[in-house]
Amino acid sequence: MTAVSADVELAGASATVPRAAAHISTLTRRGGGYWMLMHPLGDPDDLDALYRVVFGGPEQATLPRDAPVTPAEVARALVAVHGAETELGRLHWGTRFSDATRQVTDYRHGRILVAGDAAHIHLPVGGQGLNLGVQDAMNLGWKLAAQVRGDAPSDLLDGYHAERHPVAARVLALTRAQSVLMSPPPGADDVRALRDIIVDLARLPDANRYLAGMMSGLDLRYDLDDPDPLVGARMVDLSLQTASGPTTVAALLRSGRGLLLELGSPPMRPGDVRIHPRVDHVIAGVIDSPVGNALGAAPGVDRVLVRPDGYVCWAGAGPAASPESALHRWFGASVPVSASAAAR
Ligand SMILES: Cc1cc2nc3c(=O)[nH]c(=O)nc-3n(C[C@H](O)[C@H](O)[C@H](O)COP(=O)(O)OP(=O)(O)OC[C@H]3O[C@@H](n4cnc5c(N)ncnc54)[C@H](O)[C@@H]3O)c2cc1C
Repeated sequence: MTAVSADVELAGASATVPRAAAHISTLTRRGGGYWMLMHPLGDPDDLDALYRVVFGGPEQATLPRDAPVTPAEVARALVAVHGAETELGRLHWGTRFSDATRQVTDYRHGRILVAGDAAHIHLPVGGQGLNLGVQDAMNLGWKLAAQVRGDAPSDLLDGYHAERHPVAARVLALTRAQSVLMSPPPGADDVRALRDIIVDLARLPDANRYLAGMMSGLDLRYDLDDPDPLVGARMVDLSLQTASGPTTVAALLRSGRGLLLELGSPPMRPGDVRIHPRVDHVIAGVIDSPVGNALGAAPGVDRVLVRPDGYVCWAGAGPAASPESALHRWFGASVPVSASAAAR
C-alpha cells in the first residue's frame, strides 16, 4: 500500500470538507476508489487555511515510492473524494509513505546503535511510531551515558537490544493486523467477518483496555527476571510530599538519574544500603496516585528503584528488603548511602 501525506490550501470546498478537527473516523471519506483523511490545521474560514490530507487510491498504488507528489495528483484525489467543488489552491508539500514493515535484526553492531525509524518501520496506523522511537531513545540514552562515563555494568548496553527489539516487533505485528482489518482485500469476506468480531470484542471494557494499553505502549513490561508485576513496568507518576516540599515522580526523574523511592516507614538508615552516586534516594509520602492503590503494586510494596528511563527495576516491601543487588546490577559499583546523601 502506498499513500500520500500533504499540506494543502483549498481554493474551493464542498460541504463534505471537514470544518473542524474531530475524531479520525469522521474525517475519513471514500470516493472514486480513493480513501482520504482530511484534517483542518487552522481556522477553515481563513482564506489561506491549511489542511493535512492523507490519501491513497489506484494512482498511488502504481507510482514509485520516490515519485514527486504533484499538485495535479492531489487535485484529482480531492475531486474524487470531495467532489468537483473542492479545488486545490496550493500544495505546500507532499510525501509518500507505505506499509513496508521491517525491523533490523540487531539494534547494536559494535559501536553502532540504531533507534527510531532507523530500527523499525511500519504503516503509521494507530500513531505509534513516534512513541516507539522516543522510548528507544529513553531506553538507550542513560545506558549509553553510563558506558561513555565508564561506570556501566558489563551487559547494560546490550540490554538495549534485548529490551527494545521485542517491543517494536509487537508494534509491527499490531500494525500488520490493523492494516488487514482496515483494508480487507477485495472479496475477502472472511476478513470482514473477522473484523466484525474484533469490533464487538473492542466494545468490551477489558478488551478495550487491552488494546489501548498495547497501542499506547502503557502496558509495556520489560522482562527483568523478576516476577513482581511492578518490576519492568513504567513507574506511575505519583504526587509526593518530601522534606523539601511537594513534587512528582516525573519531576524527580528529570535529573536523568536513578531514583530509590521510599514510601514507607521506617526509612532505610544510613548504612542499610549502599547507593550509587547516580541514584537519588528520596523518602516521601504519597499525596495522590493516578492508579487505585498508590503504586498499582502488590500490597505492602513501599520501596521502588526506578531507572532513569522511568521503569521500575526493583520493588521491595518493608525495611528488610534491600535494593543492593538491583543497584549493583543497574548502576554498577556502589558507595555507602550516607556518602551518597552527603554528596547531594
Ligand atoms: C503519514 C505518517 C503519519 C504518522 N503519524 C504518526 C502519529 O500520528 N503518531 C506517531 O507516533 N507516529 C506517526 N508517524 C511515524 C513517525 O512520524 C515516525 O515514527 C517518526 O518521525 C520517526 O522519528 P525518527 O526520529 O526515528 O526518524 P525521522 O523522523 O525519519 O528522522 C530522521 C532524520 O534524519 C535525517 N537524516 C537522514 N539521513 C541523514 C544523514 N545521512 N545525515 C543527516 N541526517 C539524516 C532525516 O532527514 C530526518 O530528519 C507517522 C508517519 C507517517 C509517514
